[in-house]
Amino acid sequence: MIINVDNFIDGESRFVSFSEKIAIPSDFSVNGNALVDVTGNITNEKGIFRFCGNGSAVLNLNCDLCLMPFDFKIDFPITEIFSKSEIEENDCWFFADNNIDLKPAILSNILLNMPMKAVCSDKCKGLCSVCGHNLNEGDCGCVNSYVNPEFEKLKALFEESENE
Ligand SMILES: [Zn+2]
Ligand SMILES: [Zn+2]
Repeated sequence: MIINVDNFIDGESRFVSFSEKIAIPSDFSVNGNALVDVTGNITNEKGIFRFCGNGSAVLNLNCDLCLMPFDFKIDFPITEIFSKSEIEENDCWFFADNNIDLKPAILSNILLNMPMKAVCSDKCKGLCSVCGHNLNEGDCGCVNSYVNPEFEKLKALFEESENE
């Protein structure tokens, strides 16, 4: 995702498009690399380069409920500014050698758009709380005895009084 800005005159705007795999840092619970598509325009504004466009990334996540891997697509708008020198504006990326690398900027956009909760499907049934079987693959036959915790407390009180 390198854009060379040699011969890029002031006021010029160019369309760029990339499709690449990007490594996501391991503490973000993504399996392997993410396939990322980016399209947009980069404009030279008096030596400051502004990229505006859209990105999408396919992340391979593990479902929070059934723990199985699944692909999760995120879409995000991108507006980033690149400069060779210190400028007043915040959130500016520095570059050297007339080569702008979009990758760090795109990665930060991906990390900002990571889902808070990863669930493979609205219909995911999760794992059996008794045997750990993936309930999406069929019933395991366990009797799922959910006990109301309030009822448990009453039962404990009742048993205490019985023992007196
Ligand atoms: Zn699931
Ligand atoms: Zn079970």
